Amino acid sequence: MNPDIDPDTRADLMIHEMTLDEKIQLVHGDGWGVLRTGSRVAPAHNGGAGFVPGIPRLHLPDINLADSAVGVRMAALDSRYATLLPSVLGMSASWDPDAAFLYGSVIGRELRDQGFNMSIGGGVDLVREPRNGRNFEYSSEDPILSGILVGQVARGVQSNHIMGDIKHYVANDQETGRNTLNAILDERTLRETDLLAFQIAINLAHPAGVMCAYNRVNGDYACENDFTLNQVLKHEWGFKGFVLSDWEGTHSTVKAALAGLDMEQPGIQYFGDDLKKAVLDGKVPQARLDDMVHRIVRSMFASGAIDQPPVRSVTDPFRGRDDAQKIEEESIVLLRNSSAILPLSASKIRSIAVIGGHSDVGVLSGGGSAQVDAPGGNAVDPRPGPSIWGKAVYFPSSPLRYIREQAAPDAKISFDAGTDPSEAAKAAASAQVAIVFVTQWMSEGQDAATLSLPNKQDALVAAVAAANPNTIVVLENGGPVSIPWAKDVKGIVESWYPGIGGGQAIANVLFGRVNPSGKLPVTFAATEADLPHPHVTGLTERTGNNGANGAGGQARDFPVDYNVEGMAVGYRWFQEKNKQPLFPFGFGLSYTRFAYSNLKVDAEAKSVRFDIQNTGEVAGDEIAEVYVTLPQSAGEPFRKLAGWKRVSLTAGASETVEIPIDPLYLSIYSTKTETWMRPPGEFLIEVGGSSAELPLRQSTKHATY
Ligand code: BGC
Repeated sequence: MNPDIDPDTRADLMIHEMTLDEKIQLVHGDGWGVLRTGSRVAPAHNGGAGFVPGIPRLHLPDINLADSAVGVRMAALDSRYATLLPSVLGMSASWDPDAAFLYGSVIGRELRDQGFNMSIGGGVDLVREPRNGRNFEYSSEDPILSGILVGQVARGVQSNHIMGDIKHYVANDQETGRNTLNAILDERTLRETDLLAFQIAINLAHPAGVMCAYNRVNGDYACENDFTLNQVLKHEWGFKGFVLSDWEGTHSTVKAALAGLDMEQPGIQYFGDDLKKAVLDGKVPQARLDDMVHRIVRSMFASGAIDQPPVRSVTDPFRGRDDAQKIEEESIVLLRNSSAILPLSASKIRSIAVIGGHSDVGVLSGGGSAQVDAPGGNAVDPRPGPSIWGKAVYFPSSPLRYIREQAAPDAKISFDAGTDPSEAAKAAASAQVAIVFVTQWMSEGQDAATLSLPNKQDALVAAVAAANPNTIVVLENGGPVSIPWAKDVKGIVESWYPGIGGGQAIANVLFGRVNPSGKLPVTFAATEADLPHPHVTGLTERTGNNGANGAGGQARDFPVDYNVEGMAVGYRWFQEKNKQPLFPFGFGLSYTRFAYSNLKVDAEAKSVRFDIQNTGEVAGDEIAEVYVTLPQSAGEPFRKLAGWKRVSLTAGASETVEIPIDPLYLSIYSTKTETWMRPPGEFLIEVGGSSAELPLRQSTKHATY
């Protein structure tokens, strides 16, 4: 217990005192607990997704784990409060590492308040499949953007002496058939895409835990995959924390233990008596069990979970809400602003028809294990108790209320639920401006069958747009959607799942109190036919969209061939195949304009410099993006994001921006030499405000080591 000794030595000292049974006790959870009705709940179980009892005689505390992807889950179970943050995908539209850190620190702070010492969140799987039900828990389609932002989230969590984690390692990129599917990726693709995101996040945050995924990766289950766990994560990357399985994602004792799994969750099927027997029989070396325990205990010491244990206290909902709103205000993406319809001028607008999306009462949140409980209960269906799995939960942050607050006091602001397009059109026709809120509820456990908005909302928008030329649409969605009416409306505001400060953040953007600055972390395709997988693999009409847990005929090992797009994930695919997306990766409008000039790339391409000027009339933030196209010899015929910076500029001001480029981002993974290497030849560097609009470009020939 001497805090002056390093965590590894402290862990070894403690392990030296442990019996075999005590060691086994630490490498599995205590059962389903509160997650499954009828399961035993230990008295010290804090009501989160997982519980690992400690060893009081050695002063080793319990581990209480809570799902906390977008805020702490299941707070209502114990009459607690938790802040709902914007979705991870939304936050990633801020491209702001500081916002990501703040995001994690809100989660860490509230976990502490509630008595938890480990977070389960940190989704860093790539948005390869735009219809994936969990995209809202993930960051982007780019490995560098995802790795950096989710790494910052985990750092923020851990800044509160909470053990952080990242998940789901690896290639859990769709929900359909997630427990059985076999993700196929050749090694170079895996290294340069899905693994790279984890590599970056782990390097940045050194999280306590990495959760291995449900799916298989190139044949082996992710939780018994020697290549991804032992070889890459532990040996090559030097990950010192522990690997915990996704809930019932463990499939064996000896194979999993030898492949690098350190903790079975949530129960005892493989890493209880069976593991003890395997150790006694010599099938799993004692040293391997000690290594599992070492990784767990050293992480508890390193994080502060032992020296600075959480103290239960009253969560500050106001502070959480302010933080959530601030992040959302950086994350809203203005997708369309024809005839400068936005920002709305309170002095000129006499009437607004607000329509749809339950915008009279709140904003939408995502479902599954990322669900946060809404204060006061679901705003569209208030009843006591925690959220119900499978039911969309709205949080009490009403956009209508804040639109009313910001419009002129005598302006007429009407509300129509949007359930009947002709009624909505009538309301729209009698107002100067119509604002339609459209929603797409997404959840763990299911993918969307198509990119279309559900519940005939496209028809609703079409009817309103036909009735009122000044139509603005606000999207609340889990991931990219198709927008067939894009050209028929004047404004499109992407608010993602906007979190508990969402209603106010949206109104602030609509009325110009906040100048929108978010940029898309994902591509919005014009049509599904343009996607590498025009249909979600394994999702058929017969199986329905409930394929995640083997239901609906999904309990078979079917391949999902990610080699189709390979390294050309997301925007890279669109460039390689010369397809025009509806809205490209990195795109987002502002109420001002920015001009780029004077690009300078040093001979080694270690950093790029350029000037940005705010040439418009109002202050604003610009996210300046740097892309690199590797030499032809690399065989990657597309540009890749290599760096970016968020720059705040008052009207007329300019700034010289310098962005360092990590040599890793200029490299490819050679499966021959089993190392990263810089391909010989000419590198093209391009700079601008969107992956599809890059006014500055320069080649460098000398970029070799
Ligand atoms: C999810 C994990 C989650 C776990 C515990 C699983 O179904 O895939 O992300 O952490 O449940 O709730």
